Amino acid sequence: MVAGSRVLLSDKYEAYGVQYRRFGHVGRVRARKAVILCAGTVGSSKILMLSGMGPKHHLQSLKIPLIQDLPVGQNLQDHVTTGLDIVILNQTLPLNVANIASLSSALDYLFYGTGPWTSPGCEAVAVVHSDLSDPQTDPPDLQLMAIPSGASSDDGAHLYTTVGITDKVWQGYFATLSGQQVASFLPVLLHPKSKGEILLRDGDPNSLPLINPRYLTDQRDVDTLYRGILLIKKLINTPAMQSLGASLNPNIMPGCEQFLFDSEDYWKCYIRHLTLTAYHPVGTCKMGPKSDPSSVVDFDLRVHNSHHLYVIDASIMPSLPSGNINAAVVMIAEKGAEIVERYWAHKAMVCHQREVFLPTKVSLKVP
Ligand SMILES: Cc1cc2nc3c(=O)[nH]c(=O)nc-3n(C[C@H](O)[C@H](O)[C@H](O)COP(=O)(O)OP(=O)(O)OC[C@H]3O[C@@H](n4cnc5c(N)ncnc54)[C@H](O)[C@@H]3O)c2cc1C
Repeated sequence: MVAGSRVLLSDKYEAYGVQYRRFGHVGRVRARKAVILCAGTVGSSKILMLSGMGPKHHLQSLKIPLIQDLPVGQNLQDHVTTGLDIVILNQTLPLNVANIASLSSALDYLFYGTGPWTSPGCEAVAVVHSDLSDPQTDPPDLQLMAIPSGASSDDGAHLYTTVGITDKVWQGYFATLSGQQVASFLPVLLHPKSKGEILLRDGDPNSLPLINPRYLTDQRDVDTLYRGILLIKKLINTPAMQSLGASLNPNIMPGCEQFLFDSEDYWKCYIRHLTLTAYHPVGTCKMGPKSDPSSVVDFDLRVHNSHHLYVIDASIMPSLPSGNINAAVVMIAEKGAEIVERYWAHKAMVCHQREVFLPTKVSLKVP
């Protein structure tokens, strides 16, 4: 296991290698050309801050020698969603745990390409403008995912723990759905207004960073997700969903008992109690011009005021795309590789030209 700990910089700006830890030993690797950080939105910002590039007051408070005062770790944005098990159906769908785990389903898939194993899990995705009256929502503000199952579908074997549902919410909202066919309609907040931050716990590379996503701190995010719930209610009433006997899950979200079920206040409380990450964090090494005090890397993905130091991963996105982000991350990686390659090809050509042409020009001046 090799974990990069910090970037080695000469004269406080030129990256020439990385320090790493391997099986408890500290080592150094020299870079012949450039250092490229691609440790992700959490990892790259952590490495930069450990290297002395980050918010001045934060690094000073941890006694990390400051190399550059940059807003590393700030501008953290993430897609969040709600709506797990929000719909119950009075019919059994082919996609349930018993069916998926059965041998005949496996054989159906292997020999005929049919059956529950052909399901991608998420059966349909819609990208919507939830409020056309707001000119600021020019890009779509919600992605709606339709999933013919929910957290309760595995009776608490997996999702309950992996998504971090509390015991109180599990017992009060999900546990009683055991054996009931449910569906999840997940409105994903595409352009959250709430922004969080990543900080170092201390100067030890082995310490986990502090991640404060500050989800839903901006009320507009709750309002947008609420519009997603209204959309789900419309969908439930379509002939297609009615033919499956769809209705709202009548269980009251623990913590929201004081509100009338299905009222606006109830749903806004529900959203605050059951909102999950979609695992799309971005933005902690924001790309932008040097004149933008909230940016960390320039348009060639080089860390401001540094030399030969790049960040190429999801952390450079200034804001979230209107959809799942992996394709955008792949595009950033391709583009970043091209930028670095082009820079070194150009540099080699310039050096090469100097070697070839300079002596000729010099010799011309010789009397
Ligand atoms: C559970 C889950 C489900 C997802 N589902 C989808 C989806 O369906 N569709 C979609 O579009 N996106 C999805 N994503 C998001 C997508 O996977 C990420 O946005 C994308 O992988 C980010 O790429 P990255 O290169 O920035 O970082 P990563 O893919 O996280 O790569 C960073 C790498 O750096 C390594 N690393 C970190 N720190 C160090 C260190 N100090 N030294 C050495 N190595 C280090 C990590 O181990 C990791 O391998 C999902 C993410 C998760 C977690």
